[in-house]
Amino acid sequence: MQGDGARLGRLAISVGPNDGEWLPTALARIAFEVGLPTKTLVGAVFRPKTSVAQLRHAGNFLRDTAEQDLGDALGWSREQLRTMTMKQFDGKALLFETDLTIKYTHLWARAAGTRFCPDCLRRDPGVFLCSWRLSWVFVCLEHRKVLRDACHKCGIAVADLSLFEDVAAEPGRCSAWIGRGKTGGPCRALLSEAWDEEELEIDAPILRVQRAIFDAMSRGKGIHLVNTLRCNAIALLKARAFGEISTLSATGDQEIRSLLDLPARVGTSAPSESLAMAAVAAASWRLYTDDEASVRDMIRTITFSHPVERNPRSGGHGPGSAALLLSYWPEATHPMQGRILRAIDTDLPHTQRIVWGTAVPEALEDAWFVTRRRASSSEIAPQRQKPQVHSPFLPPLLWRSWAAPWQVGPRGNAETSQRALALAVSLGHQRRLAELQNGPALEGLGRILRRSMLGTEQQATAIIRQIGELAIYLDMQGGPIRYDRRLQLPWQKLLPSQDWLVLAECAHELAGSGPKALNVRRYMYLRLTGQGVGDLPAEWALQGWRASAYNEFVLGLTAQFRDAIDRYLSAFLQAAEEPGPVTWAPPRWRPEGSPLARELYDIDLAPVHGLVSEGEVALWRLADAAGRSENHVEWALAEWPRDGGHEAERHDWLSGSSFLG
Ligand SMILES: [Zn+2]
Ligand SMILES: [Zn+2]
Repeated sequence: MQGDGARLGRLAISVGPNDGEWLPTALARIAFEVGLPTKTLVGAVFRPKTSVAQLRHAGNFLRDTAEQDLGDALGWSREQLRTMTMKQFDGKALLFETDLTIKYTHLWARAAGTRFCPDCLRRDPGVFLCSWRLSWVFVCLEHRKVLRDACHKCGIAVADLSLFEDVAAEPGRCSAWIGRGKTGGPCRALLSEAWDEEELEIDAPILRVQRAIFDAMSRGKGIHLVNTLRCNAIALLKARAFGEISTLSATGDQEIRSLLDLPARVGTSAPSESLAMAAVAAASWRLYTDDEASVRDMIRTITFSHPVERNPRSGGHGPGSAALLLSYWPEATHPMQGRILRAIDTDLPHTQRIVWGTAVPEALEDAWFVTRRRASSSEIAPQRQKPQVHSPFLPPLLWRSWAAPWQVGPRGNAETSQRALALAVSLGHQRRLAELQNGPALEGLGRILRRSMLGTEQQATAIIRQIGELAIYLDMQGGPIRYDRRLQLPWQKLLPSQDWLVLAECAHELAGSGPKALNVRRYMYLRLTGQGVGDLPAEWALQGWRASAYNEFVLGLTAQFRDAIDRYLSAFLQAAEEPGPVTWAPPRWRPEGSPLARELYDIDLAPVHGLVSEGEVALWRLADAAGRSENHVEWALAEWPRDGGHEAERHDWLSGSSFLG
């Protein structure tokens, strides 16, 4: 081990590096200028114990000692040296495996070799930039020209100069060996003398995508962008969408076709020619950033042009499934993933449209992701987390105000319909089909939706969109009621006889014998838990004629009686330390001109209230009077009971009720 004093010290060389210049070619260039073989210069600069691996990968990363040696020998600052290795792009346009090596299987990183700009080389002879070694750099923004991959004379790709070269090698010349035997020799063409090409238009798509890539790299968003571009590029290449690539990138169709239409080009590696790479990147960029409506059809066509795999994958990847179609766009993440899903929305079965949220508008999905991404540290963030399958803020029976406008198909039992729609919302926008596959919830949803419950195509789309919107709303906002906790309330303490007598008196109701108190308890339980009559605890269960008697009780309830009940329930909740509103529903929204059914509030209840006050309990008669479905009338009456005339008296339940004990 040499001490500091034993090192060579400053060499008598005054050649400086250029910003962004790749270290190995910079060393070769300097060696050439002072007339030394590169190997000799390298031997003089680095301490003898420097590992071969460090020397071989000096263009990727410099360890502290190597950095120090270069600084001491050439007088280059550390800051300068850090612009001269590929490490500067780690986490920006490529990823490193270890300090010294790049993950070549990721993000289409190049293993070796470089592109170049002849104009740049003419100005700075022999200066090769680090950025030319990235597959995602294919245009010189300064000269507005596509970079070159190969020597104009021999057509061979530019190879890397070795630091172990024992001749003085000139980096600006082609080092390819041409010819054979005694007639062979290095090409030595000056790369700066390549034939001239026209400048690209200032707004050419390939120039725009290159600017976007550099911009994203400088903002720390490079990985996300190149990952998305790679995803789209693979989809484009596998679908052999050469026409689309050429159109979107504004490059010549024939030229692109000849560069890309190769049997070996399956899209798993980057196109090697810069023009092909530029065209594919530009097309990928536009699928990602152009106005969504203008590229939606193209995204859909590309998805369905993917060659069918011989062995379709299982586990949520069934033929024609969203998961399978999405897998044609590998590692698609937000927001591109949403674009793909929206493009194939109407091709999917209803269940999948709901689970994948394919009808959810772009803006809402963006807002949702901003919220969700805060919890994620990974920039790529392949899939996001959702805390639970059934939101605790969603009742087992969907809120009536939401169920009513979604009820467009054949009508059945009101509660069955509310339950089915709540299930749909609970699965809405989950995007975790594999985990739900074969689960009872998904099967149940499939069964329900098969019964043409969602009406016409337009109605189905409108409902599926709202299901996704409501699922997102609940995930982002939650609600004031935790339905899971309400099941745990001390129900054995609910409305003992002495409380019932007080309550009945306050509401000017006849207390009567057992059945009425029991119905009030049932009503209270279902009102707080959001459940249906089938979910009542065993001791309150309803069978046969008791069920219809209970329904009549609910229909005939007065607003004043219900207010008294709600005041009691409010106190019950407070005493159980589970305060909150007795009931709550998210505010309704509805796009203008939506083909949904009518809103619940949009009903004339006066004739219905009149009939109910006269003792009418046949739902079909009430529905007739309102000109609405039986379910709508049943729900509307539950929301807005008839007027009983006498205001209920108030009672302070929190000081003196038996549920406090
Ligand atoms: Zn240039
Ligand atoms: Zn050559």
